[in-house]
Amino acid sequence: MNQLNASIITIGDELLIGQTIDTNSAFIAQEFNDVGIWVKRRVAVGDNFEDIWNALDEESGQSQIIIITGGLGPTADDITKPLLCKYFGAELVLNEEVLKHVEYLFHQVFRRPGPLLKRNIMQAEVPENCTVLHNALGTAPGMWFEKDNQKGEKTIFVSLPGVPHEMKGLITNEVIPRLLQEFTMPAIVHRTAFTAGMGESGVAEILQDFENNLPENVKLAYLPSYGMVKLRLTARGENKAEVEAVVSRYFDEMQSYLKDILVSNQDEPMEEIIGKLLKGKNKTLATAESCTGGYIAHLITTVPGSSQYFKGTVVAYSNEIKMKILDVSEQTLTEKGAVSEEIVQQMVKGTLDRLNTDYAVATSGIMGPDGGSIEKPVGTVWIAAGNKNKIITKKFHFRFDRQRNIQLSAINALNLLRIFILDN
Ligand code: AMP
Ligand code: MG
Repeated sequence: MNQLNASIITIGDELLIGQTIDTNSAFIAQEFNDVGIWVKRRVAVGDNFEDIWNALDEESGQSQIIIITGGLGPTADDITKPLLCKYFGAELVLNEEVLKHVEYLFHQVFRRPGPLLKRNIMQAEVPENCTVLHNALGTAPGMWFEKDNQKGEKTIFVSLPGVPHEMKGLITNEVIPRLLQEFTMPAIVHRTAFTAGMGESGVAEILQDFENNLPENVKLAYLPSYGMVKLRLTARGENKAEVEAVVSRYFDEMQSYLKDILVSNQDEPMEEIIGKLLKGKNKTLATAESCTGGYIAHLITTVPGSSQYFKGTVVAYSNEIKMKILDVSEQTLTEKGAVSEEIVQQMVKGTLDRLNTDYAVATSGIMGPDGGSIEKPVGTVWIAAGNKNKIITKKFHFRFDRQRNIQLSAINALNLLRIFILDN
């Protein structure tokens, strides 16, 4: 079966100057991958007629599906629509259904008083030869065009608004269902596992034989971040069930190599894993955070239903709060310093007592850029996790900027807690 290729063209000066990060491409690529469309190229261009035109020409030579996002707003910098008219040789016409939807949004949803502005009405104008895709969440509709490329092959062009949540709705509800009707897709299956406690090179050593024996249509990708390594197996073929069976077999084999470092055989964040563990055991957790400033609590509470197991946090940033709220000893602070094994142990104890939970985790460290010493350089972090009977500790040396050091501390604190819960 021929591979079905797509190109994504994102439009906007803001993308080129780095003011907006192109999250649209990542979303579209993920969704397309899921249904077996290979995103061959991603191109970003500014709000410039010639550049957009050339990108359309260029990409139609590469892919059968071209997705364009951005440049559909009601302001003068957004030039995609007139350009598409020229490109597909069409006149702009007012679409009554889109106009009704724009009126509905302005009057019923946004509750704007007064009549529509001309530029808002113009949102309902579309090139006469496109298929209009309903944008339930916004005023700019999606537009679907078909045109032969230079080689005479049918090519589909879809123009979508740049606003991420509107684009997402259109991709999910309109674009993918239509593409599934239009083409027979090859099967692409991904499985992701993630490991902690070992660097990418170490993991690659462990998996060397496994990787060398993978068949042609199964690929292994390493995705390291924040002290974890994600491992993604991808296989392609014609029959979905067969491809799934192949991936499952290799995925199981891969896991058997990873026993000691495997955290999860799903692509899920650490805070979700902690949540499942605590829920499963019907236990509660609180955190005591000095250097992470509440970031661990933030991560935990991003998980729906976390109120079932998470009681709260003490952001014990100053020594005063460590002593007053968590009963940390002044003498230990003076003798050992706030960034020490003894202090994080005492923070865990104080948290278990004061917040009355089954488990607690505590952090104390130097996040930089200032505040380091020879003995305790920037990036030194002590983490403790425990319950009433036992507390374990670990010292880390991170070497990044402040923000990454905080994120690394939080993820590693959750991982230490995970290990503790599993062992106790
Ligand atoms: P536009 O359709 O060009 O008016 O874009 C509307 C909004 O969507 C702007 O605030 C853009 O910054 C945002 N946006 C446009 N393209 C992207 C993209 N590729 N990724 C994320 N946001 C985007
Ligand atoms: Mg724009």
